[in-house]
Amino acid sequence: MKFAEIAIPLPVYQTYTYQIPSDLQASICPGYRVVVPWGKRKITGYVVSLSDESQRSDLKPIYDMLDDSPALQPDLLEMASWISVYYICPIGEVIKAMLPAGINLESNVHVELVKSHDEVQRYIRENRAPTQHKILRLLLEHKKLTIHHIRKSIRGSNLSFSVNRLIQAGFLSQQVLLATAQTKPKYETWLRIASPYQDIMKLDEEVEKLSRSAPAQASCLKILAERREISQKDLLQKVKSGVSIFSALVEKGFAEKFQKEVFRSYYPLSATSAPEKIDLNEYQRRAIFHIEEALGKNSFKPFLIHGVTGSGKTQIYIEAIRQVVEKGKTAIVLVPEISLTPQMVRRFMANFPNQVAVLHSRMSPGERYDSWRGLRQGDLPIAIGPRSAIFAPLKNIGLIVVDEEHEASYKQLDMPPLYHARDVAVYRAKLNQTVVILGSATPSLESYHNTRIQKYHLIELPQRIDNIPMPNVTIIDMLKQRKRYPGKNVTIFSKELQEKIIETLGLKQQIILLQNRRGFSTYIKCKDCGFIEECDNCNITLTYHLSNHILRCHYCNFTKRAPQACPKCGGIDILFQGIGTQKVEQEILRLFPEAKVVRMDLDTTTKKFSHDTILRDFGSGKYNILLGTQMVAKGLDFENVTLVGVISADTSLMFPDFRASERTFQLLTQVAGRAGRKNLIGEVIIQTYSPDNMSLKFAREHNFKGFFFHEAPVRKELSYPPFGRLAYILVRGDDQEHVRRAAEVFSQNLLIPEHLGKILGPIPAPLSKIQQKYRWQLIIKSDKRTDPSGQIVRTHLLDALRKFKSSKYAKEVRILIDIDPISLL
Ligand code: ADP
Ligand code: ZN
Repeated sequence: MKFAEIAIPLPVYQTYTYQIPSDLQASICPGYRVVVPWGKRKITGYVVSLSDESQRSDLKPIYDMLDDSPALQPDLLEMASWISVYYICPIGEVIKAMLPAGINLESNVHVELVKSHDEVQRYIRENRAPTQHKILRLLLEHKKLTIHHIRKSIRGSNLSFSVNRLIQAGFLSQQVLLATAQTKPKYETWLRIASPYQDIMKLDEEVEKLSRSAPAQASCLKILAERREISQKDLLQKVKSGVSIFSALVEKGFAEKFQKEVFRSYYPLSATSAPEKIDLNEYQRRAIFHIEEALGKNSFKPFLIHGVTGSGKTQIYIEAIRQVVEKGKTAIVLVPEISLTPQMVRRFMANFPNQVAVLHSRMSPGERYDSWRGLRQGDLPIAIGPRSAIFAPLKNIGLIVVDEEHEASYKQLDMPPLYHARDVAVYRAKLNQTVVILGSATPSLESYHNTRIQKYHLIELPQRIDNIPMPNVTIIDMLKQRKRYPGKNVTIFSKELQEKIIETLGLKQQIILLQNRRGFSTYIKCKDCGFIEECDNCNITLTYHLSNHILRCHYCNFTKRAPQACPKCGGIDILFQGIGTQKVEQEILRLFPEAKVVRMDLDTTTKKFSHDTILRDFGSGKYNILLGTQMVAKGLDFENVTLVGVISADTSLMFPDFRASERTFQLLTQVAGRAGRKNLIGEVIIQTYSPDNMSLKFAREHNFKGFFFHEAPVRKELSYPPFGRLAYILVRGDDQEHVRRAAEVFSQNLLIPEHLGKILGPIPAPLSKIQQKYRWQLIIKSDKRTDPSGQIVRTHLLDALRKFKSSKYAKEVRILIDIDPISLL
């Protein structure tokens, strides 16, 4: 092929054609990373397709090829183009997001000459490849250099390509040292057969001879002959003898030692213990029966497991994966956030020792790159991680699991593409003709709706393991508290919750308390003039934090000292309003001085293993009370927790968002599910100022279906998902007037016919200013009957975007398009 379509990781909605130089033509194929000229610069691009013809004669040639094999395998490339179209995101940006960060850095790739001077000279004489010659000569002089360094010394194209050729020919070895200080590569000493003995016959003779004089050496050599290379550590275990034997083999010239890079992993794999033996119960067996049947067919089948908290969903994932791995296939497990689910990760590692790659957003680039390579080379068949793990470079995928599929963290919000990992998971399963399991105790309305229209197959686990009863939930009306207990301090802890806590502490059982706001006070207010401190950059109230007496913006992290007096009227009566986790903690210390409490929120979990430490310590009984934000509602399984208290259920209800009741129902049901997971009966107390709210009532009954059938008609009436589609357009910029005008211009260009959908706005976004940027929004509600796949609306959107590019506001603002948004703020 002579031409390549290249995607560029820049905000451009098209690919570009380049010529393929003749020496690259034989090796190049879609998925490779290349260097291409771009104006005066050279940038990395991705080959998306090849062709033999082009109408144009002025095409520039590809400058270099970066990898020795495609960075992106075929199914991922196909996914990239689907994501690009579906989420209206440039394909180059999609591909960039799919690859591990840091993979582009040539300054981190070191190459080393590993052959002798004579061999190099002979290669130079026998092969005509000028760039390779230059590289070899340079390395004869310096032995080891970064590719970046070589590029500076040798001008000309095809550099990486030539380096890769030399690596394949065995002249160079390559190491990737990523730039962060902590991530030096780790090496182990390995042994291999020395080159004169590569010939098996010759080696056998020597083994024969040795077995008489030095039997231990002989058996070592025999293992080595079988394995070709083995780590010193493994060999020691096999022969149960000392390192001196290896040295003898090396001295006699049979073997040679070398250093091999070890893959690092975020979790020390040895830290896991063997899994407990578990016999599946009736419901689990039935679930596995259906899944197994689907796995045997090698075709696409999506399941939704709706199982109450503690019903054994995770055990089903494990059994299903076991079958998949036994067949030599691979599996991806998505979890909302790795650091919040250490128990789950350990369970997987215990069940599949040395087979799991844990991907983590807090991994260093080195760790991330190692896991990525381990998966790509097929060393590890199971990938477990947060949303980006859906891009794990696994081949031969047999199963994809999305645990807690309702979780909002599956949606990427901070940078393009704004994909939803659950939906991408379903797509990847379809591409690979395989099974995907979504699981939750509180499924999203979207997924549950999909089971009702037969898109997903529903599996239900209506009971907890061993028929452990669901905890008993009581709703406390906080408005009535003050009347009922005048003069008592019952604003944070109701009388009922106080009494339960004392009782539970007395029984030496544990407590989880949820308050979904961090900091001390969610706002501070002047008693005299009513002035409330807001962020300088956002139209958001500032939260008061106890440590250092500061006010902090939870959107942009802006901080300032809390004032002693009102900045507006000078009044000194400042009210610390709204309850944050710090205030709750202070109140616990006051009311229950004997209790040991640990707080888990964003402020106490900034370090790498802090979640894990807190949860481990709580699990081992070091604390009586675990207090935190929604972090404490997720997936925790502690037998000794018998009481769960929700300080205020109202925090999420007040959000001006169509998902507010769904979020509230999910959060309450999930946190309630943490109580009474083994033999002890659980008790849950939910405090609220809106005791009649339906989300609370259904959560009290653990009644997901009740909630679904209550909420679905409301959504249907308003054409919200799952009955209609949403697209959210945010216009953002420095100048309020420009932003408003730009939003109007964009809206005028958006010509969506009445029967397809409705445009709401443009209006100022509820969060009308964040980080100094003014925000206006447009929302498109479209009809699934007239535009089932959403494609027509997307075409209109893309059209409007193109037209907008040539308007005079294009430079003043940025447009963000969010397809299937999860929040409209
Ligand atoms: P879920 O994922 O639905 O919350 P888990 O799979 O974590 O449920 O199961 C809850 C608890 O019950 C775990 O401690 C798990 O080890 C245990 N468990 C799961 N299945 C069984 C079973 N069939 N028999 C006994 N214990 C089980
Ligand atoms: Zn701010």
